[in-house]
Amino acid sequence: MEQTQEYLNAILLFIYLIGSVTFILGLKMLSHPETARKGNLIAAGGMIIAIFGTIFLYQHKSEGESVPTGLHNYIWIFAGLIIGTVIGTMAAKKVQMTAMPEMVSMFNGMGGACAMLISLIEYKNDPTATVGKLLIIVLGMIIGTVSFAGSVIAWGKLAGKIKDKTIPGGQIINFLIFAGIIILAILVLGNFMPGTPALFYAILALAALYGVLFVMPIGGADMPVVISLLNSFTGVAAAFGGFLYNNPVMLTGGILVGSAGTILTMLMCKAMNRSLKNVLIGSFGGAKAGPAGEAKAQGAYKEISLNDSAVLMAYATRVMIIPGYGLAVAQAQHTCHELEKVLEEKGVEVVYGIHPVAGRMPGHMNVLLAEADVPYEKLLEMEEANDQMGGTNVVLILGANDVVNPAAKDDPASPIYGMPILEVEKAEHVIVNKRSMKPGYAGIENELFFRPKTSMLFGDAKKVLQALVTELKQL
Ligand code: NDP
Repeated sequence: MEQTQEYLNAILLFIYLIGSVTFILGLKMLSHPETARKGNLIAAGGMIIAIFGTIFLYQHKSEGESVPTGLHNYIWIFAGLIIGTVIGTMAAKKVQMTAMPEMVSMFNGMGGACAMLISLIEYKNDPTATVGKLLIIVLGMIIGTVSFAGSVIAWGKLAGKIKDKTIPGGQIINFLIFAGIIILAILVLGNFMPGTPALFYAILALAALYGVLFVMPIGGADMPVVISLLNSFTGVAAAFGGFLYNNPVMLTGGILVGSAGTILTMLMCKAMNRSLKNVLIGSFGGAKAGPAGEAKAQGAYKEISLNDSAVLMAYATRVMIIPGYGLAVAQAQHTCHELEKVLEEKGVEVVYGIHPVAGRMPGHMNVLLAEADVPYEKLLEMEEANDQMGGTNVVLILGANDVVNPAAKDDPASPIYGMPILEVEKAEHVIVNKRSMKPGYAGIENELFFRPKTSMLFGDAKKVLQALVTELKQL
């Protein structure tokens, strides 16, 4: 009997190894749009094997007693699995691409909540555990709870249900809460007040409050950075769960999520040319306070007709399309690809200039254009696009705004000052398609629209692109 369990343990360990390898492989494949879908499936497959391996082969070690193999409570486990699978699948199928960051935030929050629940249960099971075990339980709970509460607020903000709120003295309050958490944690770990589980639950309450207050004042445009940071928190909290259960696959998964989230956070800060500290306590894209955040009256702008735009592009050598959030809103990616093909038939070279924070999530434009089968080689990263801007005849901006705002370079008073942008004015002509003169996500005026090289082509991106295709075919 014991020998059989030993074999089963070895098989389970092997399953965990396969799971860990699939996570690493999947993550690697996610770094390229062509392999991303497969990578996601491989990692998900590894996770399924690990889950079922645990359910059926894990043996809870209990001294003296012989414990049967596998987990128990199968009805609860499978009910949870089925409900979670149905909700997750439906949510992922229904979600609009533009609402993806909200969903990611909510799912991430659920991960944090799981880590929190694990700690709660393990504390309840063994409140007088060793200091080492208690430390893992307490840390997992603090980080998981902050991630859960913060993610829910981030979700609310992205969904427009919660407004940015700067609380007077917020940083001091946050500091005091943080200090309170540390003091309570020391009291619990040192068992200075034995038999007072209230201390443990007070840590939980303070961590939840900290999560809320930490995310509340952060500006909407900075939400992706915050979500990525919270994502790394969830990973770390899950890794603590891995320690707790001595479960290698949970540990590997947690560490991978934690480190990938941290790297993504740093990359996004770099793309915006800002420090993480500045993102967390700055107010870029937040409550649009101060003169720099207000739309101020600018000079006159000029409009261009569909026909003139079509002619300009048809006789160009190179056209660079700059997609932005508006293209995703209009779901105009397929029509955009059609325009690209019509132009290429006329001998025009068409490339896309991709800004790392265009749209509403990292890689948003890459995913959007990949959906329409735009060849990946045509997508130029910001630096390469800027290098090629000089030799470009026409830049066609489709629903982008902040990522081409010259204030980021020229106006030190602007909240986006320092963010690298696509330097479209180096091209000969700039055509901007949007529906009105309204600002973009950061809520600030864009002087590009009033500059001499720029012409405005108003209208919904999809309708405008359809009309442009028709015009071009007639030329
Ligand atoms: P912006 O939000 O700056 O601008 C989008 C523009 O699209 C608007 O000015 C809007 O103007 C126009 N638009 C909206 N709907 C349509 C439509 N149907 N047809 C044509 N135009 C339309 O987008 P960018 O992509 O330039 O910049 C992204 C911004 O979002 C940055 O500030 C970034 O920091 C932030 N952000 C980025 C995230 C990321 O990870 N990528 C996540 C969250 C925020 P109008 O209303 O006049 O049509």
